[in-house]
Amino acid sequence: MVVIIFGAGVAGCACALELIRKGIGCIIIEKSNANQSTLDFGETLPPESSLLLSELLLSEKHDTFGKKIFGVQSSWGHAGIDTRSFSSSIPSYGLLISKFKLVDHFRNILSPTVPIYYGVRKVSLSEKSNGHITDVSFSDIVGSSHSISADFFIDATGRHRFLSRRYSKIQHYDRLIASLSDGFTHTTANTTLSHDMSLIESINTGWWYTASNFSDKRVVARFSDAHDGIARKIKAPSIFLQQISETSWVNQLVEGGEELNKITNFSAASTKLKNIGLKNWVAIGDAARTVDPLSSQGIHNALLDGATFAKALVEYEDNSNIQSQFVEEIEQSYFNYLSKRDSVYSLENRWSSSFWQLRQP
Ligand SMILES: Cc1cc2nc3c(=O)[nH]c(=O)nc-3n(C[C@H](O)[C@H](O)[C@H](O)COP(=O)(O)OP(=O)(O)OC[C@H]3O[C@@H](n4cnc5c(N)ncnc54)[C@H](O)[C@@H]3O)c2cc1C
Repeated sequence: MVVIIFGAGVAGCACALELIRKGIGCIIIEKSNANQSTLDFGETLPPESSLLLSELLLSEKHDTFGKKIFGVQSSWGHAGIDTRSFSSSIPSYGLLISKFKLVDHFRNILSPTVPIYYGVRKVSLSEKSNGHITDVSFSDIVGSSHSISADFFIDATGRHRFLSRRYSKIQHYDRLIASLSDGFTHTTANTTLSHDMSLIESINTGWWYTASNFSDKRVVARFSDAHDGIARKIKAPSIFLQQISETSWVNQLVEGGEELNKITNFSAASTKLKNIGLKNWVAIGDAARTVDPLSSQGIHNALLDGATFAKALVEYEDNSNIQSQFVEEIEQSYFNYLSKRDSVYSLENRWSSSFWQLRQP
């Protein structure tokens, strides 16, 4: 069996790693160039996700892409600060990672065995009359053309959904948007807050996230609804900084620090494909469904989907409906995620803006 994976991100690499361990050949097609640096979000991984990552990498060495954290801080539902310690979890730490460094780490492990084509353009698919995809044609970073046949196709292109958006509608559950800058230098301001733990603070029109990232800068993100127009306004650094100064807690971790990078808007909406898999393709990670960054579950889902679907391919190699159990599990877990997301937002009832009204039961 030959599998083509679109996207050498977290989900695509995790899937490729499990496939080669099971002896299944795969090829990855990646749109961006190798080592293309992008914004460093400073993603938080709770202990269970750190454990999953160690199991997949067969190593607890995380220092090339992340650092240990021992809890998270939040101001949510009341004006004070709560600290959730990881001391009673297994492992007793989470990770603050650079997704891009993690992906580099995965790609280095894969590179001797799995062909990864970078910077691909002009991608086209051929199908049989029964709707099964047979071949993919593309040109690579140096302009050479390729045409490759495969038995199964995996969409791991994140929110781009290169393959699956051709075959499925996308369902939107909100329009959350992140306005993010990753270049704040560290402040020396005196505060009772931990500089090492990430912090979430709710405000009347959304919430803030800040964490010290892998490059030892501070990432600061403001979450709002796309339709309220805030994300457009705060792309001006002076307005972004002014909004930070109006917070009670984020301000204390940023005050006096110099803001170096521009502010970029990203969709952080909760969305799901109507059809996560059909015929001989399936979507994994963010391509299948996206979750609110508040849940810190995006990387976990990407790792778990990659590993789980690789096993499904091995176990059901001769079955025409390889993906049905996998798809059912994602549908069920997304239903649970939505109800958990609603219960977290319902803990905050101090504000009356449309952002919070939309999130109240
Ligand atoms: C602001 C923000 C903060 C977040 N914070 C956290 C957090 O704290 N903790 C957490 O767990 N998660 C967090 N997430 C979510 C997390 O980043 C994602 O869920 C996770 O990266 C999804 O991994 P993926 O592999 O599915 O997709 P991606 O990481 O998006 O990888 C997709 C890959 O596909 C490639 N690609 C795209 N289009 C094509 C194409 N046409 N052809 C070929 N390749 C293509 C891309 O270049 C990329 O390499 C956050 C997300 C946002 C927006």
